[in-house]
Amino acid sequence: TKKRVLVLFGGASSEHEVSLMSAASVLRAMDHSRYEVLAAGITPEGLFEYYEDQAGINTNHWEGFPYRRFVHDPRRPRLLFSPGDGGVYLQNEGLVQPLTVDVIFPVLHGPFGEDGRLQGLLEMCGIPYVGAGVLSSAVAMDKGIAKRLFHQAGIPQTLHVEMRLDPRQPAIHEAVNLVEGRLDYPVFVKPANLGSSVGISKAVSRDELENALRLAAAYDPKVLVEQAVDAREIECAVLGSRNPVVSVPAEVLPSHDFYDYEDKYFSGTSQTQVPANLTPEMTERVQQMALQVYQLLECEGLARVDLFLERNTDRLLVNEINTMPGFTHISLYPKMCEASGIPYSQLIHRLIEDALEKESAVA
Ligand code: ATP
Ligand code: MG
Ligand code: MG
Ligand code: MG
Repeated sequence: TKKRVLVLFGGASSEHEVSLMSAASVLRAMDHSRYEVLAAGITPEGLFEYYEDQAGINTNHWEGFPYRRFVHDPRRPRLLFSPGDGGVYLQNEGLVQPLTVDVIFPVLHGPFGEDGRLQGLLEMCGIPYVGAGVLSSAVAMDKGIAKRLFHQAGIPQTLHVEMRLDPRQPAIHEAVNLVEGRLDYPVFVKPANLGSSVGISKAVSRDELENALRLAAAYDPKVLVEQAVDAREIECAVLGSRNPVVSVPAEVLPSHDFYDYEDKYFSGTSQTQVPANLTPEMTERVQQMALQVYQLLECEGLARVDLFLERNTDRLLVNEINTMPGFTHISLYPKMCEASGIPYSQLIHRLIEDALEKESAVA
């Protein structure tokens, strides 16, 4: 019998729109002869709304501009989770009935969906899911904690300062002094827990740093300031749980000052090179570091590791790791897998099988 796969999209994070685009691609690529595909949209408020099949979802609508938030529809059945008794229920006009789901594919980016919280809920309910577990998801999402582990493992990275700012009344001058005491301009300022470059800015002066800190703190009271590096941006895909495989690396060539939100999803001006133009030796170093980072954080399923290759020194630095990387039609994760011999629909299949295998290994 066909396995029932529930695809989750949207979510209560600033990467909501990106998830819609990622999920549109995933839903379109699902092999219906193999799987029975269900879907549920999570509204920005965090409500789970159910779609019996893909019919009610106009995925075309989500591709590129104009993109849109997934809007709450009170007529749709709601998904209820019940820890301890096996699962998922549908609530429809006052009636509650169980829903059989074999595996969940959370095509969600950012806080709540990619940071271990949803993964915790699914663990509590005993439902297998694609991707990293609770701990790995949480640690990978928190750039500060991840950097502490990179440091401990001796993996080179940018100089940085971690701080906590009150989003309403950030102590900006203290923060600026702290940064200026440790780093030189330009610097990158980031919310510790987010993705898609949301809330990130580059600052070349005290004024810009102040604004950048305020912006980042509006997304997350925990803020990271990093020394900017003059480097090529290299990314690598890792796939699998027990015996993870590494893809060919790719290079990002940002069109703006850096690889920002526009560049990633809309403008189409940034360029990517798959595979990256690297020597065989450098390719191997990149792949080794990607795998090291993946295993250090005990990731499962998949992740995309973002690295910097310093222009003057050829030093390879880790930037960050993403446990649910973008899956849009222009996203690098599926492109890197494809260039490594794993086409998109086979990739989806492998991810689902990986989640099911893990489950049977535990049970
Ligand atoms: P995503 O999860 O979508 O990959 P993110 O929001 O987690 O992104 P980062 O990957 O940390 O953010 O940074 C986004 C971009 O900002 C990088 O791809 C790079 O272009 C630029 N950038 C970040 N940190 C630095 C740095 N220290 N020096 C130079 N450029 C940087
Ligand atoms: Mg990221
Ligand atoms: Mg990300
Ligand atoms: Mg990144």
